[in-house]
Amino acid sequence: MDNRCIHICSALSNSPLTYRDLDQLGLERIKGIGEKSLSALESFGIHSVLDLIETYPRRYIDRSNMATLSQMQLGVDTLVMVQVVSSRSMRTQRGKTMVTVTVADDTGKLSLTFFNQPWREKQLQPGMEVAVFGRAEMYRGYRQMTNPVVDRIGDQTGRVVPIYPQSEKVRISSWDLARWITDALAKCEPRGIEDPIPDDVVSSHGLMSRHDALRKIHRPDVVDDHVQARRRLAFDEVLRVQLMLVGKKSQWERESAGFSHATTGHLIDGLFSALPFPLTGAQRRTIDEIYNDLGSSRPMHRLLQGDVGAGKTLVAVATMLAAVQGGHQAAIMAPTEVLADQHALGIRALLASLKIADEGNLFGDRSLRVELLTNKVTGEERKSILAGIADGSVDIAIGTHALIQDKVSFASLGVVVVDEQHRFGVEQRSRLRDKALQSEQGLVPDVLVMTATPIPRTAAMTVYGDLDVSVLDELPPGRTPIVTSRVSGPLEMEMMWGSVRELLKKGQQAYVVCPLVEESEKLEVASAHETYDTLSSGELSDYSVGLLHGRMSSKEKESVMTSFRQGKLDVLVATTVIEVGVDVPNSTTMVILDADRFGIAQLHQLRGRVGRGALASQCYLVTQHSDPSPRVEALVASTDGFELAEEDLRLRGEGTIMGARQKGQTDLTLASLQRDLDLIQWARQDAVRIIDADPMLESLPHLRDELDLLFSAEDEEFLFKS
Ligand code: ADP
Ligand code: MG
Repeated sequence: MDNRCIHICSALSNSPLTYRDLDQLGLERIKGIGEKSLSALESFGIHSVLDLIETYPRRYIDRSNMATLSQMQLGVDTLVMVQVVSSRSMRTQRGKTMVTVTVADDTGKLSLTFFNQPWREKQLQPGMEVAVFGRAEMYRGYRQMTNPVVDRIGDQTGRVVPIYPQSEKVRISSWDLARWITDALAKCEPRGIEDPIPDDVVSSHGLMSRHDALRKIHRPDVVDDHVQARRRLAFDEVLRVQLMLVGKKSQWERESAGFSHATTGHLIDGLFSALPFPLTGAQRRTIDEIYNDLGSSRPMHRLLQGDVGAGKTLVAVATMLAAVQGGHQAAIMAPTEVLADQHALGIRALLASLKIADEGNLFGDRSLRVELLTNKVTGEERKSILAGIADGSVDIAIGTHALIQDKVSFASLGVVVVDEQHRFGVEQRSRLRDKALQSEQGLVPDVLVMTATPIPRTAAMTVYGDLDVSVLDELPPGRTPIVTSRVSGPLEMEMMWGSVRELLKKGQQAYVVCPLVEESEKLEVASAHETYDTLSSGELSDYSVGLLHGRMSSKEKESVMTSFRQGKLDVLVATTVIEVGVDVPNSTTMVILDADRFGIAQLHQLRGRVGRGALASQCYLVTQHSDPSPRVEALVASTDGFELAEEDLRLRGEGTIMGARQKGQTDLTLASLQRDLDLIQWARQDAVRIIDADPMLESLPHLRDELDLLFSAEDEEFLFKS
């Protein structure tokens, strides 16, 4: 559909105004906007009438339940609506400016004092209506507020006054914005504002029309009006994001041909029958979902979420074997070398007893060839692995991003597992996928992305909107919950090391994680050495202590990990390199130094290194400060990764999930990942339904045009990368 045609057609007609129409209306059309305001608005990121009406109030004042000056109590935060009587500026003895403003209403007077805000004198002109929020005290016989919050509201009528974001720097007041938006909305009245979202969608959720929502968010009759208005406009935001993500996914599926793998056979049967334990219900369900995808020629693109210790490795192996059984290859990419090593170990153990048919072999079968490829694998060994990957004799390649380098070319890559842990972006995912296209058949491999960081459902739908999601929400049985405690001060530290020694004496093992130094790996390593020296000559001198950090060669790392795994080391002092994947069931104690420096997700990952066997485990979070940090408290209170992820989102504010920008990129000015779970779920379902029926949105030209308008190519990239 040609966008220009829609625009011209609607510009010429009397049909309702679309967002594109409004985007092309210049601000000079609005009453009261002159040259100066125009450039001020520009610097505010408001370039068109659309930008203007998408500037929403940040709060509302209800005049009907506001105090008058005579009712105002001293020492209590109060909001009053008053008129400026006079203002004057002077210098204090210390050379600060002090502006004193007298305000009044019908019932009395109040004095406002502003320090170091010289512009207040000009801003607050006699006669002006302002809303003032602050706490009044008596000063020299007069009631006075010091540095209150002041909003210029002008002589607005109506019970509810919207307060807009204002900028002192460019001198745009809430009052200015209110006037301009009122005029903009008035100019939209004759033609009305187009609602691009199908009626049945809007009405099935009981939402109001877009035009109504815009009227009510800017001019509510009663304050509560804005709640429903906000929901409608927030729904539009999340629906646009979902349409784009679902549209991308559907396009990708339409345009690519994938393998259809057989999901039964002797290799797969062999894996399951050799397991020393039954699958958990969640593992069985997830493997079913995956096998369903694998059997279809539509390429799989699935996210597997599972808390630490939920048993993702087995699911990954079951997925990869489907490719191997059909004579293809599989690859698993991990974010760090330690994790790749760990995967190699775990995967080889699971596959040790399996054989694959091989006519060239005397016995008619052979063991699987599983190879590890990281940057540390060099020389002849590397050559041989690369050759095996290229000629198909390597069945499973395990590695770091070394796997996606140009030199690596697969004979026939059928399944890709990306153990993401938040460290890869979509870009790297797709590069591994592209590797497969270079092989003979040119089929797109099935992709499974695994993450141990539980992502709240809402965020998953937004950030991973182009993937299907499986959740491993059940831990294997027989785990004893980890007891977590906060430790601060020398006395508590002393007691902690005492308990650690008790457990070491019983033959159990412990990790000690060193303080995080985010700015510099070098400093972090230095601090790890220091911790190691202090502990091995002090508190833990009777035990054998090892050290693991990111600056060691992979040989060194491997040998330390092996000693620890074999129980030759009792204690492993480490930096966050052990954050992911390390799996030693006999280690029951985790000590995290300076725990308040870590984020919730990271602490949860680290803690997940213990509690992997039947032995009771404990985690000590050491903090320097005696005030509890909310993140540390969250860890003490819960071991549930999903609960912690929600808490993390709450503590950080959702702004961190999507950056902040005027429009597009976030396009989520109103919607909140926390508050609007229902809207996001609706939008997801609606988007799937709409795209299924009409992938190019040909029957919804206005909606299609709106997506083109609001999302740039760069935005799409952003959404797919995060
Ligand atoms: P994740 O990668 O999800 O953190 P792993 O795959 O490393 O978890 O599994 C953690 C531990 O649980 C491993 O020691 C694994 O052998 C064991 N495990 C996996 N599935 C089961 C199961 N169904 N029953 C018992 N133990 C299991
Ligand atoms: Mg794992």
